[in-house]
Amino acid sequence: MTDRIPWDQYFMSQSMLLAMRSTCTRLSVGATIVREKRVISGGYNGSVSGDVHCSEHGCYLIDGHCARTVHAEMNALLQCAKFGVKTEGADIYITHFPCLQCTKTIIQSGIRKIFFLKNYHNHSYALKLLEQANIKVEQVAVPEDLFQNIGDYYKADLTSDIRDS
Ligand SMILES: [Zn+2]
Ligand SMILES: [Zn+2]
Repeated sequence: MTDRIPWDQYFMSQSMLLAMRSTCTRLSVGATIVREKRVISGGYNGSVSGDVHCSEHGCYLIDGHCARTVHAEMNALLQCAKFGVKTEGADIYITHFPCLQCTKTIIQSGIRKIFFLKNYHNHSYALKLLEQANIKVEQVAVPEDLFQNIGDYYKADLTSDIRDS
């Protein structure tokens, strides 16, 4: 691998991987919370611990929204609460622009910057609140062939490891 991956692409890639753990079939979202260039927490959208998964039982829809899932951003923030990790001054990397509820929660948590990959029903009130709270919002572009390149780079090593073991 020749190019060194920029931090914003690196952290966004973590969120993209986390999104692959999502159990809701409507949308796969991943969120990574970062402080001083270190990952402090991560989450994806899924059921409350112990409940069934949408991927097996279908979504529980109320007013067009899946009521079963905890959003990725909330799960990442709650992991910080659970383990006593400070979120003040942190950044969050999300695969999709946050919904209004998550936006409000992110603001209250003291997070100072939101990086997102895809626009997703960007709510005008969310945008207004973020501006009011002076929270920076930046869209990150991840090269289309990033994961392909990683796969290509390790392909030979992975197969030789299997051969040798
Ligand atoms: Zn669902
Ligand atoms: Zn949300």
